[in-house]
Amino acid sequence: MPALTSEWGQRRLVGHAGTVLRCVAMNPANSSDQQTVEEFRRDVHRFFHQTLPGIIDPLPEGSLERSRAWRNALFDHGLAAIDYPKLYGGRGLGQDYVSAYREESQGLVPREDMLFGIAVGMAMPTIRDLGSDELKERFLKPGLRGDEIWCQLYSEPGAGSDLASLRTTATLDGDQWVVTGQKVWTSGAERSSYAILLARTDADLPKHRGITMFILPMNQPGVEVRPLVQMTGKAGFNEVFLDQATVPRNWVVGEVNNGWRPAVALLGHERVQTGTGSVGGSVDQYSKEGRAPIPFGQLQQLATRAERAADPVVRQELARLHSGQQIMGWLGARATHPSIGKLWRTRQGRAAAELAGRLALDGSAAWRLDLSDPANRDADFFAFQMLNCRGMSLGGGTDEIQRNILGERVLGLPAEPGPARDTPFRDLLK
Ligand SMILES: Cc1cc2nc3c(=O)[nH]c(=O)nc-3n(C[C@H](O)[C@H](O)[C@H](O)COP(=O)(O)OP(=O)(O)OC[C@H]3O[C@@H](n4cnc5c(N)ncnc54)[C@H](O)[C@@H]3O)c2cc1C
Repeated sequence: MPALTSEWGQRRLVGHAGTVLRCVAMNPANSSDQQTVEEFRRDVHRFFHQTLPGIIDPLPEGSLERSRAWRNALFDHGLAAIDYPKLYGGRGLGQDYVSAYREESQGLVPREDMLFGIAVGMAMPTIRDLGSDELKERFLKPGLRGDEIWCQLYSEPGAGSDLASLRTTATLDGDQWVVTGQKVWTSGAERSSYAILLARTDADLPKHRGITMFILPMNQPGVEVRPLVQMTGKAGFNEVFLDQATVPRNWVVGEVNNGWRPAVALLGHERVQTGTGSVGGSVDQYSKEGRAPIPFGQLQQLATRAERAADPVVRQELARLHSGQQIMGWLGARATHPSIGKLWRTRQGRAAAELAGRLALDGSAAWRLDLSDPANRDADFFAFQMLNCRGMSLGGGTDEIQRNILGERVLGLPAEPGPARDTPFRDLLK
């Protein structure tokens, strides 16, 4: 998930902050019931500890069925869209309630939720804030409920950190846009029904202008998805080839040629999500979904199983990782710059996976075991985590780019040199 050059604006702070003392109760249909933050908190606790296990525990870990069951249940219990307008299936509640939810759900969100990271964490808030009424009406509810899966068509072979150099084009033809080009590193494209797409609509404008954000239906003949297998053995992302794919004329988020604004807003949501999201998954979960750091409790249990919990070096590392997890939680609760949270999270992810690898695999990276043998479940799972955690430092903008953002936007250091800002994109290609 791309790219944040020095040109990128700061995160647009969204949400409906403010003190709301009472709210509609758990069942959104029952609008006469009122609920305080404390009552709401108790409902969230009840949902995670009593209701949810009965719904998802019987379903296989990592399955699509389990992912959907989780998200549907969350929405149907009024907890998936706490600060969204009621008109679009939300609760219309304030930040107090969002914070209460975050605290009560910490460590309890199933890892399968990552399937909806792009829809719920990025596309829906962008559509909510910048989309037309037609788009909000059509997409918010199914996106938040997990009925439709989304992907993000931003990165291209020549446009990652420098996303504004993207070359995929969209041309208006009657009532539809015709899109041609290539995207890459598209997480979850193979199972998505819709994509947030950035395409160039006017190459005569400077590179940050002349870009438009679209909603692209993925299930159509002009869209070809080819999986890219990673070193984990899984294909978590894809190449996507667009050959005269079509988009309805009105499915533009924001304005034509002014797509940089929603693009930056979406990336702000992405950094918030990757930086301050809850450490998903219960400590007993072995699901390989998602790119979150291994929860501290799981590392602690692993150290005990490996009979290393009393080892002073292991204890020291566990203490550091415990602090790291706490800090991530506190960063999430405060309105710090999202790049700070993202850098903490990627560091935590790498350190946690490295410790787990050393505890679970005798020879660490040089292990040799039959990973399909259930007796080697720890080794299989933590080996996967060791390999998978690297991607966290790239997706959503690399660590170097986060530091550039902090340097330029927070510390006020000079911007990187480059061509004059008003150079038409067409001339940059020469
Ligand atoms: C797990 C994962 C999931 C992803 N999912 C998606 C997705 O769903 N959709 C999507 O569109 N994209 C996705 N991406 C792509 C991701 O956004 C890009 O990989 C990322 O922005 C970096 O771009 P790049 O790979 O082209 O590397 P490049 O931009 O070519 O960078 C190469 C190296 O140069 C460094 N570098 C580049 N420019 C600078 C600079 N100005 N200053 C200092 N260092 C610099 C980078 O930090 C990096 O180390 C995903 C990537 C990963 C790893």
